[in-house]
Parts: sequence; structure tokens; C-alpha cells
Amino acid sequence: MFESLSDRLSGVFERLTKQGALSADDVKTALREVRVALLEADVSLPVARDFVKRVQDKATGQAVTKSVTPGQQVVKIVHDELVAVLTGDEDPGKLKIDNPPAPILMVGLQGGGKTTSTAKLAKRLKERDGKRVLMASLDVYRPAAMQQLEVLGAQIGVDTLPIVAGQKPVDIAKRAKQQATLGGYDVYMLDTAGRLHIDEVLMSEVEQVSAAVNPRETLLVVDGLTGQVAVEVAQEFDDKIGISGVVLTRMDGDGRGGAALSMRAVTGKPIRFVGVGEKMDALETFEPERIAGRILGMGDIVALVEKAQETLEAEQAERMMRRFQKGQFNMNDLKGQLEQMQKMGGMESVMGMMPGMGKMAKQVQEAGFDDKVITRQIALIQSMTKRERANPQLLQASRKKRIAKGAGQEVSDLNKLLKMQRQMADMMKKMGKMGKGGMLKQAMK
Ligand code: GDP
Repeated sequence: MFESLSDRLSGVFERLTKQGALSADDVKTALREVRVALLEADVSLPVARDFVKRVQDKATGQAVTKSVTPGQQVVKIVHDELVAVLTGDEDPGKLKIDNPPAPILMVGLQGGGKTTSTAKLAKRLKERDGKRVLMASLDVYRPAAMQQLEVLGAQIGVDTLPIVAGQKPVDIAKRAKQQATLGGYDVYMLDTAGRLHIDEVLMSEVEQVSAAVNPRETLLVVDGLTGQVAVEVAQEFDDKIGISGVVLTRMDGDGRGGAALSMRAVTGKPIRFVGVGEKMDALETFEPERIAGRILGMGDIVALVEKAQETLEAEQAERMMRRFQKGQFNMNDLKGQLEQMQKMGGMESVMGMMPGMGKMAKQVQEAGFDDKVITRQIALIQSMTKRERANPQLLQASRKKRIAKGAGQEVSDLNKLLKMQRQMADMMKKMGKMGKGGMLKQAMK
């Protein structure tokens, strides 16, 4: 389910992750596409617009600041926002059926899966919650519909109200209530008649039934494949009779799924259950996290993001190695290494990871390479101009004085740093010469 939305967003995020940092403009561009994707997935325009705006506000706030993958950051924000839109205060799987016999009214258009869902839900209440359930069909227009419920009831071992020909829906409802009370049922479910389209007769009929039994839950069953139409239907039913929740059917098909998002945003009513097949146990509790994950194809995207990141790092490492092999190891490289070491827990631990490097680690340390001074060394490098960093051989007396002063240190400190840079350059060159599969390559991995 949700394939096109997922595919579309995957594409968007794939492009995003190819970029190093995320600017406000990047976020804007990406989210413009997210909006199109949402619209294509049948999310209504105001909902899509609102959704994107909220994500944008959050994304630009955090965007470029942190060094975590920007793509991941946006994916996470979009994901969280999807969950936020899809989540209600209620526990979707928990119906208000405490005082027996609790009436549940099932409403919706014809063919939406109402009768099937009634039986599925009855089975669930019976098996999971240990409830005694009575089902009654109020569809006086289609005797076949009444029989259908009876057949399903027999199949799942749930009682149905005996069919009495010629009774009006509201009278059947009253009879169901009576029988449920007398028979000691916990729940009675009323499967109302559907129509092809919403019409006044249907609505007033449902209204009458609702007034007669005062349902604890009024669940609207809608075909998830109908997208925007499903949302309009939900809104209309909610305006006219008031619904307490939605059952979204046919979510096993390749529907575009935006209905779930709009449904929640537009009606404010929770999606309680999701129909995922024709079988009697093909009913799932609606889980916002899971649906959002499926909308985004989260696992895939995160994997993609990581892969892109790895490729990028591998390419950088490769480039660096080629330069080192030629003996090119300037202050920028040294700074990069120092920062890397800081991140990885210091020089010793890094050296410790490389086979046969114990001795070299000691040498380097003797050359003034100590974890505690890394920060000071970085400060010295930061005090150099761009040109000086790229060409440390430029550093003569006057430049040295200026740099040391800028970092609040002595020229002797800078000299130690320069000595270390030369040693490192030398070391890198040697290691590089060990070949492509050599130690440096190993160390860079
Ligand atoms: P009603 O007219 O609203 O009562 O609709 P029905 O319950 O008779 O369902 C119409 C058709 O949709 C039946 O063939 C059901 O088996 C099928 N159906 C209902 N729910 C689902 C679902 O979640 N997935 C799939 N694939 N089919 C469903």
C-alpha cells in the first residue's frame, strides 16, 4: 500500500541525501516535491499544504546546524509529522463498549466493506476481548445483505439477529437492543444499509436508528482505495450523524493511501481499524507509526541514506589517499585527522586500531601528539590563512608569530605542530606506498 507516495518520497530523499548540507532552500525544494507527492497520493490540498508548512518550519529550524545526515533529519521530521497527523488521543483498538449491551453502529456506502468489516470486528471482539456479540443487518433493501451477515456470523461463530421480513430498520435496531439485553450480550452491532451515494433517505434512516439505540461507537467503513471520495464521505457522515471512528478497508491493495492522512486531518476522527483482505481475520488495529513508516518506506530510505553517505566517505577517503601517496599532507588534512581523532576517542585508540601501529603511536606521541593538546593544535591551524593551510612551507618567522599570537600560543607550539605535520606527511606517504590494499586503505575504512 501507499506505493506511489513511498516511491515518490524515496526519490526526493535520495536527491536530498546526495547533498552535503541542507539549506533552507534545499528544504523548500524537497518539500515542494513532498507536497506534490502527497497530492498525487490523494491527500487533499489544504492538508498537504498544512503538512508541508509544519515540516518546513521544523526542518529549517534544525537544518544545517547539526552534522547528522541532513536527509535523515528531514526523513525523520516528515515521519514524525506524519505520525502526529495520524495520531489521535484515543487508543484506536479500544472501543467504548464497557456497559453491556453496548451498541456499535456501522455506517458507510454500499460496497465499502461494511458487512465484511462488521463480521471481522465481531470476530475480534469475541476472540480478543472475550465479548459476547450479536450482529444485526438493517439492510431491508437487499435481502442478500442480511443473508450475507448471517452466513458470516455462522462462519465466525457469532450470533445474528433472526431476520424478520417487512420490518423497518429502526424497528430491527430496537429488536436487536432488546435481544441483546435479554440474551446477556456484551455488544450488539448494527450493520446499516449502504447506498451508492449519500442521500437524504439514507441519512435520515441512520439518524433515526442512532437516536433509537444511542450507539457507543459509530464507525464509518470506507474504501481506502477511493481516496479523496472517502474523505468527503467521512466528512458528510460526520456532519450529519457524527462518527466516532473510521474503518479503512482495502488497504491490502495498491491504493495511494493519502486517504488515511486526509481522513484524520479533515474529520479529526481517528482511524480505528484497517481492512487488509477479504478473510475474516484481515483486520488490523490502525497504527500511526506503522502507516507512516509504510508511507515513507522508512527502512529503505534510511538504508539508502546510509549507503549514499558511505559512498561519499569512501570517495573522500580514496581521494585523500591518492594525495597522501604523493606526499601531499597539508594543514587541512592534519586538521581533518585531528578532528577525526577527537571524535574517535583520541590518538591512542585510533593507532591502537591499526595493526602494527603501536610503535608509531609512541613516536607520534613523543613528537607532541597528545590528546589533550589536540584542541590547541586545531586552534593553531584555524589561525592560519587558507593559503597557509594548503602550503605549510610558507610559514616563515613573521607568519609564525602572527599565527601563534592569533591562537594565544607560543611559536614553539606551532613549530611542534609543523614538525608533526611533516612527520605525518612522511608516514602517510610510506603507508600509501604499501599499495592500494595497504595499511592506509585499511585504516581509512
Ligand atoms: P458493503 O456493501 O459495504 O457491506 O461491502 P461488503 O462487506 O459486502 O464488501 C464488498 C466486497 O469487498 C466484498 O467482496 C469483500 O470481501 C470485499 N472487502 C471488504 N473489505 C476488504 C478489504 O479490506 N480488503 C479486500 N481486498 N477486500 C475487502
